[in-house]
Amino acid sequence: MSSGIRFESVTVAYDGNVVLDALDLAVEPGEVMALLGPSGSGKTTALRAVAGFVRPASGRVYLGERDVTDLPPHRRGIGMVVQQYALFPHMRVEDNVAFGLKARKVAKSEIRARVAEALEMTGMAAYARRHPRELSGGQQQRVAIARALAIRPGVLLLDEPLSALDARLRSGMLAELARLHRELPDVSILYVTHDQVEALTLADRIAVMDRARLQDCGTPHELYRAPKTQFTASFVGNANLLPVTVGEGGVSFGGREVEVGTDGI
Ligand code: ADP
Repeated sequence: MSSGIRFESVTVAYDGNVVLDALDLAVEPGEVMALLGPSGSGKTTALRAVAGFVRPASGRVYLGERDVTDLPPHRRGIGMVVQQYALFPHMRVEDNVAFGLKARKVAKSEIRARVAEALEMTGMAAYARRHPRELSGGQQQRVAIARALAIRPGVLLLDEPLSALDARLRSGMLAELARLHRELPDVSILYVTHDQVEALTLADRIAVMDRARLQDCGTPHELYRAPKTQFTASFVGNANLLPVTVGEGGVSFGGREVEVGTDGI
């Protein structure tokens, strides 16, 4: 199911402090939109407003034509992956992946097929019977992604999914996420990150956030060539990073193979 995401003047406040200020933003069906900005700029809050974990003080959130602002999270048809995997430690990989499907009362045979498919897509089929503690951080994050994919979401929300991984793993996982995006042409992805490299690598467009506000939005090249604000220019503008190429094993910038998180990036 393809849908797209639309924020219509979404404002969120905690204890009277506005942390997301009248956000207007549309993610097209099948598009990867990165929400890029420094810590505390409101990125996760925007994501949580789509997921249904935070209630806007004003404004509306749409998934496709559906106004979901008042719907509970489990009725929104979204998959979500957060930084720390959040797998159930006592459950095998396959049961972790099946969890959301069981909660949705999907038939057993259908659950088996979808778990197998999701584990296949994330390269984790051989680990179905393991427990999370027997997996590396990168493998656990793959399982978390499989769990999100198993519900066949129209929208995938990724909140700093690579930030707990070391530099080498991050580079490989970036390439894998790019491949997944190609395999899921109908799924809209909202990708929260404070890392310019991740945004430039994966995103079709980047929404730049600072101090609760959307500062700019465009393709990586648009933001680089014609930043609307000084903030975008300083945060995104680094000629050495373009063009970005995603290969089998990792990522290269400006024709240079680099390890994400090193090389001064
Ligand atoms: P980012 O994802 O860009 O780092 P967040 O959306 O997590 O930013 O946070 C934006 C602001 O909202 C921060 O100042 C943060 O401290 C505040 N905030 C986030 N969640 C809560 C909460 N549950 N209660 C109070 N303040 C919060």
